[in-house]
Amino acid sequence: MRRVLALVTILGLFVSGCGGVATEDQVPATSEAPVTAFVDVVLVAMITDVALPSQTVLIAGDRIVAIGPVGEVDVPSGATVIDGRGAHLMPGLADMHVHLEDVWPVPILDLFLANGVTTVRNMNAQDPQVLAWRDAVSEGTRRGPTIFTAGPTIYEDVADLGALVADQLDQGYDFVKLYSYLSPEGFDEAMAAIRANEGYAIGHVPYAVGLDGVIAAGMDEIAHLEELSFELVEFDRAAELGIGEWVPYILERAEAELQSSGVDELLAERIDRAVAALGGADIPVATTVFISDLIVEKLLRPDAFLARPELAYMPTAYMAEFEAGTETHQVQFAGHEDISALRYTVVLMLLRALHDAGVPLLLGTDAGTGSLGLPPGFTIHDELGILIGNGLTPYEAIQTGTVHASAAIEAMTGDDDFGTIEVGKRADLLLVGGNPLEDVAHIDEQLRGVMAAGVWYPEPELSEMIAYDP
Ligand SMILES: [Zn+2]
Repeated sequence: MRRVLALVTILGLFVSGCGGVATEDQVPATSEAPVTAFVDVVLVAMITDVALPSQTVLIAGDRIVAIGPVGEVDVPSGATVIDGRGAHLMPGLADMHVHLEDVWPVPILDLFLANGVTTVRNMNAQDPQVLAWRDAVSEGTRRGPTIFTAGPTIYEDVADLGALVADQLDQGYDFVKLYSYLSPEGFDEAMAAIRANEGYAIGHVPYAVGLDGVIAAGMDEIAHLEELSFELVEFDRAAELGIGEWVPYILERAEAELQSSGVDELLAERIDRAVAALGGADIPVATTVFISDLIVEKLLRPDAFLARPELAYMPTAYMAEFEAGTETHQVQFAGHEDISALRYTVVLMLLRALHDAGVPLLLGTDAGTGSLGLPPGFTIHDELGILIGNGLTPYEAIQTGTVHASAAIEAMTGDDDFGTIEVGKRADLLLVGGNPLEDVAHIDEQLRGVMAAGVWYPEPELSEMIAYDP
């Protein structure tokens, strides 16, 4: 009902043709949808890289219903008025690669909200309760960012892969997540079933398939930028290895190639080739670069890692493992610490090359598993910082978590529903003190409040929401 009223209001605005500026009779103050007005904000609508001063934005229900200069937008009586003077209003951010695990000392969805994340895409439904969370948030009975979720990750070939994929989509999962250990036959079978069921596929680049195979099969998205690093090593994709054997094999090949002369030219050539292939196919790639940075920090500068205040939220079991040196990455890279630093350098080279080639990048951090040292929500600010440090302007970096994110969700669901401040979009908004187009760190340091699907959480409330004393 709320949604219907908001849509009627929106329709009225379109019919009047007044460019999103409402007059009094178009925004019924007595409608069931509560109206909120952000008055006198600097508008960072993410339609252009220009910030517009002295704007008012009206929200009815979960929708943006009017935008215009202060004085030209009538604020209906009874509306909740938020004084925007001295603040910027920007779209909420999406973390397009998360793991919604219920292992955190405060609700994981609150950790995202308190950091300005109003959309999350869950990459592996280990627990089907994620579907209930998604639906409860969308019905307004649970606090949190809008959720999209994969079914349980498909790690390797299993009997009747096509039926498994169809069943996941039938259960209402938003997309299918494909992993590294699928064979070419298994991968093709899964992709055929995804196509037949009008599903959407996000995946790793399976070792036996490779980037060309992934592009040829029409996989919709690549789950991590670092997946492309496997394209920079020459190895036998038909090697028929077991699950634990691929990475050591490829690392061995990489170490052998590093000894050869002309390795820099070879690397540049292979990066160009991979990026050109992806650019031609227009396949978006989730960034998840911060995790590679953090791996290096954990291995080579553990004191700096331990000094991160957000680690207060890490599950105690994780901290105990880290102290004992048995944490996931400590084990994975034991004896190969230098390789971790080299790996990060290559990831950054790929990031810059993908950005230069105009490949759509999606802001994603891999936060939420509880086992990798990535506290949900906080990581979004680190990820943005790395993008800025590697050639993206603040506007471009914010696009990865707003405009590009919404375009990817549109490709998945048909609905381009967030990511800009425009009439008709879902009211996912951040009120930020400093101008985020000048410094993305303002989003972290000067967040004054978050609106998620029309519900407003001012800053004191956000801090209270995640207050925790370990
Ligand atoms: Zn992940």
